[in-house]
Amino acid sequence: MNQAQLIELDKQLLWHPYTSMSHPAPHFLVKGAEGCEIELADGRKLIDGMSSWWSVIHGYNHPSINDAMTQQIHSFSHVMFGGLTHEPAIALAQKLVSMTPESLQRVFFSDSGSVSVEVALKMAIQYWHTQGLPSKQHFATPRSGYHGDTFAAMSVCDPVNGMHSMFNQALTPQYFVSPPPTGLTEPVQEAYLQEIRILFEAEHHQLAGFIIEPVVQNAGGMRFYNPSYLDELRALCDEFDILLIFDEIATGFGRTGKLFATNHCHIEPDIMCLGKALTGGYITLAATLANDKVALGISQDGGVFMHGPTFMGNALACSAANASLDLVASYDIENKVGALQSWLEEALKPCESLDAVASIRCLGAIGVVELHQPVNLHEIQPMFVEQGVWIRPFGKLIYLMPPYVITKPQIEQLGHAIYQVIETYHSDS
Ligand SMILES: *Cc1c(COP(=O)(O)O)cnc(C)c1O
Repeated sequence: MNQAQLIELDKQLLWHPYTSMSHPAPHFLVKGAEGCEIELADGRKLIDGMSSWWSVIHGYNHPSINDAMTQQIHSFSHVMFGGLTHEPAIALAQKLVSMTPESLQRVFFSDSGSVSVEVALKMAIQYWHTQGLPSKQHFATPRSGYHGDTFAAMSVCDPVNGMHSMFNQALTPQYFVSPPPTGLTEPVQEAYLQEIRILFEAEHHQLAGFIIEPVVQNAGGMRFYNPSYLDELRALCDEFDILLIFDEIATGFGRTGKLFATNHCHIEPDIMCLGKALTGGYITLAATLANDKVALGISQDGGVFMHGPTFMGNALACSAANASLDLVASYDIENKVGALQSWLEEALKPCESLDAVASIRCLGAIGVVELHQPVNLHEIQPMFVEQGVWIRPFGKLIYLMPPYVITKPQIEQLGHAIYQVIETYHSDS
């Protein structure tokens, strides 16, 4: 089949994320990917600014992850996790427990980020059930959050701007508070904490947990906030017997400049969700980590945790994750991502002079250009491809989260492309 035929079939047959079947968005046919470049079928090479949505942190086609997975395939790719276990899963659990906050010692593997959130919410509900508080079945969460596309995960996404508002009637009602005020170093606002306290005082009998993306609210607006809010939240959760759940699916494994966003604050959550970069972006896998209080609480009096996906602990996925985490361990992650932050700041700075740009912010390997007006993705996506880069804006946000192996000249090209595209886009429209 030639390229045009493939693209035509794609339009007829395939749903892509958040797209219409009757007015399909342009999709570009990929033939290969290597390091920080995605190669299109027509031979064009695009510098990758997205890490395929936070996941491909070591770049594409990495020899050591390739080797690990190839070896595992020749041994076995999957066996059921009920009644059976294997070294790839055990080794991975050991790595995760040693790299995450100390109190998180118990690991539940699942298929994707959204499912790991479902698992976290179920753990919290089941924990309170075994503690004799079965009315604690709901969750509190800040607006502007994003926790995935499955039903319980959707119920804790931003109720208005989240991508799921049409499902509101079908979702479990949850308790929303304002998003944490933005600004990494802005002083903590007492009024914000007071809002949460008032909610907790009124509703703690219903509340099993508080779920939040630590330090950066990602898909809900790329909002950066002062990590001290997390310390204060921990104290409030303890006071009102509410479990604290951190969703580190986007921020985990170095993205914010520390190994986990949690490391920017002084406390530890009860439950943590990991996904996306866990396998270096090779294959889907997620993990929900819990502390002993939750894990042993659920298990007391013969209790069992009620979840068990078919592909739990998939050995092939675990082998990719083991190789990816070995690479993470081989970097000095704070230095490596710290350098990326300063390159991003430098590369995006010229955009400040553009009228269409409202603000620019960087943290770790995340660079955000916020515009005054949302862009039309169908129009702007091909403009980036013309510039030789792969960048996928969202609403008013043009953002970069490149693989950690990207070079300074490549980041300069990404910054240059953003400048050019914003300038052209706004002079056209
Ligand atoms: C992407 C994401 C999810 C959902 O993960 P999937 O693997 O897409 O199901 C959940 N939470 C956060 C913070 C995410 O960024």
